Amino acid sequence: MVLTMKLFKKHESNDRLICLLCPHSCQIRPGERGICGVRENTGSEISLTTYGVISGFALDPVEKKPLYHFYPGKYIMSAGSFGCNLKCDFCQNYHISQHAVAEGSNKLTPEELVSRSLRYSDNIGIAFTYNEPVIWYEYVIACARLASAAGLKNVMVTNGYVNSEPLAGLIGVIDAFNVDLKAFGNDFYRKCTGATLKPVMDTIRDIASSGRHLEITTLIIPGMNDSVDSMRKEAEWIATTAGSHVPLHLSRYFPMYKRNDPPTPAETILRLKETASEYLDYVYTGNMSGNDSGSDTVCPGCKSTVIKRHGYHTLPAGLSAEGKCLKCNEVIVKWI
Ligand code: SF4
Repeated sequence: MVLTMKLFKKHESNDRLICLLCPHSCQIRPGERGICGVRENTGSEISLTTYGVISGFALDPVEKKPLYHFYPGKYIMSAGSFGCNLKCDFCQNYHISQHAVAEGSNKLTPEELVSRSLRYSDNIGIAFTYNEPVIWYEYVIACARLASAAGLKNVMVTNGYVNSEPLAGLIGVIDAFNVDLKAFGNDFYRKCTGATLKPVMDTIRDIASSGRHLEITTLIIPGMNDSVDSMRKEAEWIATTAGSHVPLHLSRYFPMYKRNDPPTPAETILRLKETASEYLDYVYTGNMSGNDSGSDTVCPGCKSTVIKRHGYHTLPAGLSAEGKCLKCNEVIVKWI
C-alpha cells in the first residue's frame, strides 16, 4: 500500500533506522525490532511484521469498546493483532500485547477483513482494538480506507501514544476514537507504562479539534491514580481542551499481569465519578459488579435517563431518532 508520509528515517552516523511512528523514536539496528516488538529494520526500511496478522476477530457491542455516544446499541466487527508500544504492568490484554505473535495466527488481507465485516447486516464497521492499533499503522490505514469506501465506520481504541503526523493520517480515516488516558500524571506514565503523558494529551487535543468522535477511558488503580485531586485536574483539562460533552469512562481495575493489588473499591469509582461530573456532562463507570446505573446516559439538560444499559443490553428509550433527548431536545448522540 502507498503511504504519503515516511514512518522512518536513516540515522546520520550508523546503520540504524529511526522509527517516526510513536514518541519512543526507537533507533533500530538491522534485523532488530523496536520497543513494540513488531516493527523491524530489514536493512532498507522499517517493516510491519504483523501486517494482516490477527489475534482476535469478533462482532462486539460498540458499548464494549467502550463507546457510548457512537451508534449506541449497535454492533461492530472488532479486530486486533499482537504487540504494544507501552509496557503497562497492569495490562488487561497482556497475553496479546506483551507477547510475540502466536503460532498459527490467522492472517487477513485488508480486502478479506472488510469483506468479512460486510457479511453482518447489523454491523456498523470495524474497530481496531484488543492490542495497540497505532503500531499496526499500515494495515489499519489500508483496511480503514477500504471500509470507508464500502460504507463502514472505523473505530480505534488506542493508548494515544503516537506522533502528530501519523496521527493526522489516522484522523483522516477513523470516525471514532476511544483514547486511554491512563492517569493525569507523568510519574504514573513513566513508572507504570514506560511512556510519558504529554504525547497522549496532544493526541486527545488533536482528535478533539478534528471533529472526529472522541471518548476517553481511565482505568482507576488503588493508590496509583485514584486521588480526587488528580481526577479533578483530569476532568477540568478534558472539559477545557476537548469539551465538557466528551464522555469519560472510569473503569474499575482488577489484578492482572504484574500487579496483584486488590480490585478498586466501587466507592472509589463512585467518588471519582462525582468529582469528574463537576466538569463533564457524561461520566460513566465500568467493570462494576451488580446493578450499577453508572452506565446509563443521563441528559445533562433535564436529567432524565435517555439510554438505559444492563451489561451490553442497551435501551435508548429516551432518545429521538435524531439522537436528542425526548423530553428537552438536548443533543445527546450525533452518530445514531
Ligand atoms: S512504533 Fe514501535 S518501533 Fe516505532 S517508535 Fe514506537 S515502539 Fe519504537
